[in-house]
Amino acid sequence: MQSALEDYGVERVKVQARRALEELRDALVAENAEAITRVENENFFANFCQQIKAAIKQSVGASLRPVVNLTGTIIHTNLGRSRLPKEAVDALSIIASHPSNLEFDLQSGRRGDRDSHLQEAVCALTGAEAATIVNNNAAAVLLVVNTLARDKDVLISRGELVEIGGTFRIPDVMASAHARLREVGTTNRTHRQDYEQAVNTNTGLLMKVHTSNYAVQGFTASVAEQELAEIAHSAGLPFVSDLGSGTLVDMTQFGLPPEPTVRSVLQAGADLVTFSGDKLLGGVQSGIIAGRKDLVDRIKANPLKRALRVDKLTLAALHAVLEIYGDPDRLSQRLPFLRDLSRRPEEILAQAEVLLPAVRSALTDCEVAIRETHSQVGSGALPLDLLPSYALVIRPRAEKGQRDAALTSLALAFRQLPLPIIGRIHDGELWLDIRCLDDSNALLGQLSELAAQP
Ligand SMILES: *Cc1c(COP(=O)(O)O)cnc(C)c1O
Repeated sequence: MQSALEDYGVERVKVQARRALEELRDALVAENAEAITRVENENFFANFCQQIKAAIKQSVGASLRPVVNLTGTIIHTNLGRSRLPKEAVDALSIIASHPSNLEFDLQSGRRGDRDSHLQEAVCALTGAEAATIVNNNAAAVLLVVNTLARDKDVLISRGELVEIGGTFRIPDVMASAHARLREVGTTNRTHRQDYEQAVNTNTGLLMKVHTSNYAVQGFTASVAEQELAEIAHSAGLPFVSDLGSGTLVDMTQFGLPPEPTVRSVLQAGADLVTFSGDKLLGGVQSGIIAGRKDLVDRIKANPLKRALRVDKLTLAALHAVLEIYGDPDRLSQRLPFLRDLSRRPEEILAQAEVLLPAVRSALTDCEVAIRETHSQVGSGALPLDLLPSYALVIRPRAEKGQRDAALTSLALAFRQLPLPIIGRIHDGELWLDIRCLDDSNALLGQLSELAAQP
């Protein structure tokens, strides 16, 4: 018990000891046979202390833990989106453990601006005049609309009223920002005249929203950024494009379909662009607003900006990621999500073939095979695009009627490993897409724990 007192402190030991004693007392009062045997055991006291220590250990373990993402979705929102490159981890770790010039101008010795640390990098990569950073892209959209169109109409195509994962829905964001959504055109087709006819003295803003997680296909029409900018500017209004993922480089070089870059949308005439820092950019959770300086200045003066601002760790990590973009030739070696995304199928297959025999012999009551699959980029970026990959597919051998239960407990056993492994259940099987397994030992090293499961 002495070691527990030293490691965890008196308070924690007292709380857990009291709890364990109460449980034991209740069990004895209820004449529970197992509790009586425990108390009669000559090692009762040592065992009881051990039990308390285990309970303390469990109660102090972090709830937020690393996992292995074998879901096949590379940028998985529920699994923390992008992994950070080493440079970003180093940068945030230094800033975390030291005072910094977060809002302090080293030249003048006076108060500084936290956005100043990133503005230059964002402007260099996008061609924007100015930039500001907030908590995430949802916050960026909210802040832009609230600043530029409070109590006014925001014109958006009916085909772009997106919902991103349940709580971010464009109509709700407009309401929260105290702006009125004015829907333009139809779900599948919106034309230039639709916007022109909708513009009036109540209009505050024209907006285009990237249809990130779905595609409108077939008989469709939408108005390009350049035209939207012309319509807005001829009425003296700003035009804002919510790009969602926000790519800084041409993604076709990584085998993805063409996506508008932040630079191209600004060049086409958007006054402001909003995008996420942790989708196709591969950085930390944040939202970037880039574009015209006078508009960025108004946004920074909005009291909501103070509520939505980012902390020093985010700024440090995001800066390190943007530095990596300064050397575009080595992006796919240095940004983990691009490394995952650009892995060749042959390489993934070879890795799966090495894993197969070990997984087979560990899971004796399952059938294990390698199958072709398709990985997704994820996080609402490029919904239709699927990257050829390979998965280890595990099917429990169980009586009919027990198969669902066997599969559920198999998936649970993987999730309960010291380093939890998250796969995808599909068609009565557990699929482990090998694309994002950059260290095979994360699986091989834990197989004995799986084999030990009852
Ligand atoms: C993802 C997305 C958002 C929300 O971005 P977060 O960084 O997740 O807050 C907003 N708009 C679009 C178009 C998106 O794709």
